[in-house]
Amino acid sequence: MGAGSCLSSSSEVSAEDRISEVCEEGSSERLQDAVRILIQGLGEDVKREGLRDTPKRVAKAWLDASAGYHQSVKSVLGGALFHEPLVDTGCGGVVIVRDIEFASTSETNLLPFYGRCHIGYVPSQGVVLGLSKVARLARMYARRLQTQERFTQELLQAFEAHVHPQGCAVLVEARHLSQGPTLPVHASSAASGCLRQDWRMQEFLTLLRLHAPAAPLPSADCTRSGIALQAVAGNGCESAVEHMARDAAAVCPSGLDGLGLPAQEHMERAVEAILCEIGEDPLRPGLLGSATRYVRALLASTTGYKHRAVAAEPRALPGIRDRVAFACMPSTHGVVRLASLQFASQCEHHMLPFFGEARVLFVTEPSAAPLAPGVLEALLGSFSRRLQIQERLTQELVSAVHTVNGAVATLVVCEAVHMCMVARGVEKHASSTVTCAARGACKADGELRTELLKILNSASFH
Ligand SMILES: [Zn+2]
Repeated sequence: MGAGSCLSSSSEVSAEDRISEVCEEGSSERLQDAVRILIQGLGEDVKREGLRDTPKRVAKAWLDASAGYHQSVKSVLGGALFHEPLVDTGCGGVVIVRDIEFASTSETNLLPFYGRCHIGYVPSQGVVLGLSKVARLARMYARRLQTQERFTQELLQAFEAHVHPQGCAVLVEARHLSQGPTLPVHASSAASGCLRQDWRMQEFLTLLRLHAPAAPLPSADCTRSGIALQAVAGNGCESAVEHMARDAAAVCPSGLDGLGLPAQEHMERAVEAILCEIGEDPLRPGLLGSATRYVRALLASTTGYKHRAVAAEPRALPGIRDRVAFACMPSTHGVVRLASLQFASQCEHHMLPFFGEARVLFVTEPSAAPLAPGVLEALLGSFSRRLQIQERLTQELVSAVHTVNGAVATLVVCEAVHMCMVARGVEKHASSTVTCAARGACKADGELRTELLKILNSASFH
């Protein structure tokens, strides 16, 4: 992940938050123990530098993601209800608070989902709610284990019960991490009172779109991130979920046992311990099987450990489809080959996925044989599917490709979206991280490097 810490503390520190912080200290210790079991279950060394503070970070993230349990609607809204005579005498126009960003945790698989919600209401007797409170209310419900539908309903009901409007409508648009790198947007809505009327709902929806004529909201994150995630989806790529499903089947818990590592079952118990610590009941119907699904996804995203040998002796792995888009062009330095690959990895600082595109360029002698199909994917797979940071992934990939190829020059650029920047504690949703690494002739030759980077940047793979 990027250089900056991914976990910023919330800007809204109330007395209530501080009290719960004190209560959380003991809880944090137990959470950290559980996270250690998960890391060991992956076959990792909890004492290695990059992972040393990971249990602390993950525990903090879990406490943050569940902070909403310690808040109530009353404490969040406080006395922020105002009576506006002018609103009272008006003709019942709708008030909308739009684009409230939120990040929540799915109770089904314990992975993040995030997006925006919009709340509209028609005030009754001129009673309006302080605008910032609407966002706080949304964040309170988001910081619990949720389903998108329940999140939507709870927002509506809280609004109904405390503001007593003539009508209220909630629209939630979210991306679910469980759906892989393409992250389609799911919309859910709920309405009450006069906003159940067709024309009122139309008005609400029309007003929501007023200021976003060019780019409808669902694709906004994607375009701004600079990664054409959608375009890639249509490229015959496997989604991360397909990956996970296939890999999960290949992961053998007894095999882990044989290595003296905690079995999958122990990891599941650890996840259940996390759920208890954040105040949840792992046995409630909505959470049944969630620990298993979470552990399976975690194991599936770290199968690269099984393929350590690939880097030493590159070969295409069975079952890995050739998903590389190749381009090839002659240049003064030799033959330039370009490839673009999708990847999904797991941030070792926060144990949350990051995913994006790796662009690979290498220059070989005209007589050199082209790289065998599947080798690039196998290399990237073995490096990406483990606890990683993007900077190291980029370096490992460029070294491996350069060596395998006997290339004159090799350049790798990775661009990825980090879930730890999106969910569990951080609000900035659309940023992405770019890393670049070079080997061979372009490592020190600035001019050549600039030239190759231009070629890589302007190449169109889709
Ligand atoms: Zn991170």
